[in-house]
This record gives sequence, structure tokens and C-alpha cells, in this order.
Amino acid sequence: MGQHSQPTETKTKNASVVRGENVGREYSRGGGGFFSRSAAPTVRALDGVSVTIHPGEVVGIAGPSGSGKSTLLHLLAGLDVPTSGTITLAREDVASLSARQRAALRLEHVGIIFQRFHLLDALSARANVALPLVELGRGKSARRERAEDLLTAVGLEERITHKPGQLSGGEQQRVAIARALTTDPSLVVADEPTGELDTDTGGRVLDLLVDIADEQAVVLASHDQQALDVCDRIIHLRDGRIERNH
Ligand code: ADP
Ligand code: MG
Repeated sequence: MGQHSQPTETKTKNASVVRGENVGREYSRGGGGFFSRSAAPTVRALDGVSVTIHPGEVVGIAGPSGSGKSTLLHLLAGLDVPTSGTITLAREDVASLSARQRAALRLEHVGIIFQRFHLLDALSARANVALPLVELGRGKSARRERAEDLLTAVGLEERITHKPGQLSGGEQQRVAIARALTTDPSLVVADEPTGELDTDTGGRVLDLLVDIADEQAVVLASHDQQALDVCDRIIHLRDGRIERNH
């Protein structure tokens, strides 16, 4: 698939972090329940979307509410699989993997930042940041050192043992950024990362993300123009299709 598109493509370009080719995603309305058995209507959330994300670039996904930003971001992150087309993440065709294999691929290659932080309330900032390393089987002292280094990098060296409930929204999102980077992934995705933050705090958090994720590709879905200002280029979606890509 796609070999015909760019015969002169260089090795560097082949080393994309993630690539979507002619991607579509349909959802069934009504959850496929008893009453929708025969003619379950579907929502075409994405249609014919092709994107290539390269190492180190910061790419925005823009568009009005319902245009497919979260759907595309979830596909690029390997959280979901397309109903048509291909997603190639870390050289793997994600549709060919089991859910467990996809989870392992994400753990190694993808850091994910959500609008509502998704930190574990019972754990300290350090333990939240170290969690992916527990799953990777790293030893305790190595985990602590890595988590403390990252929390220092996001300016939270004084908050290492604080729990999420003792932190402001901006601080919680900085913990989430540190957690997303713990395994040194090649891709960081963020879905409306400033949605819960005031303008100044949101701006600082994004600057920090872009500074710290230096080697990583960052893909940021947002309808907030301020968030999109930090991006190197922006993919504009409308009704599940790419409207502009610059
Ligand atoms: P955005 O993030 O730009 O607001 P989404 O990707 O969340 O857009 O949604 C795109 C379209 O897909 C919308 O019409 C939305 O209602 C629909 N959609 C998203 N997720 C689901 C789902 N789990 N089930 C059914 N429809 C969905
Ligand atoms: Mg969304």
C-alpha cells in the first residue's frame, strides 16, 4: 500500500513516527443494541485522511467540535484502529495487532496527555510519573531517579511527593507531561491539553511541553488558537476530512 505515491522518498522520510494512509473511522450509532439490529446507522468520523508525522515536529490538529480531531489523535496514538485505510505506528500496522500488542506498542512508543490530566489520585506526583516504568519492569531506584529528573524538568522539584489533589490544574498537567515522557517515547499526543486551564497557565504548559519534548514528535488536538500557535504545522479538519494542511 502506498508504494506508488512517492518513489523518491528518502530514508529519513520513511522513518516517520506515525503515518495514516487514506484513513477512515466509522462509529455505529446507538451502540448496536437490539433495536438497531438491521440498519444500524453509522457516523463517519474520519474519511480519507492521510498524514505523516516526522520525528521532532510539533503538529496541530485543528477544526470545530465534532470534526474528528480526537478520533484522528486516538488512531495516531494506537488507542483505536481505523475501519478503513492504514495506520503505521513505529513501523507496525496497528490493525494487524491484538489489543494487548497495541498496548505494548503504546507503552514503548507513545506518551499520551489528556484534557483532564488522568492522574491517579492516591499516588504522589513521582509515583504517577514512574508508573509506565513499573509496567516496563524497571527497578525502583531507576524509576524514582527518572521521575524526579522529569518532575524537575517541568519545574515541580518541590512537589515530588504531593498528590494530585494538592496540586493546581497547571501543576497536574505538568505531572501528566512528565508522565508522558517517562519511557522516552517517539510520539507524544495531547488531546485538548489546555481545555481545563486558564489562558496564561495553558500557554506556559504548552511552551514547556514543546521545550521538553525535543526529540519527540508532538501531535496536539485543539480548537484553542493559542495552543495551535506553538505548532510547526497544522492539519485542519472539517467533517472528518482534511480541509487544509500547512
Ligand atoms: P472532535 O474531537 O473534533 O470534537 P471527535 O473525533 O470526538 O471530534 O468526533 C467526530 C465525530 O464522531 C462526531 O460526530 C462524534 O459525535 C462522533 N463520535 C466520536 N466518538 C464516537 C463514539 N465513540 N461513538 C459514536 N460516535 C462518535
Ligand atoms: Mg475532541
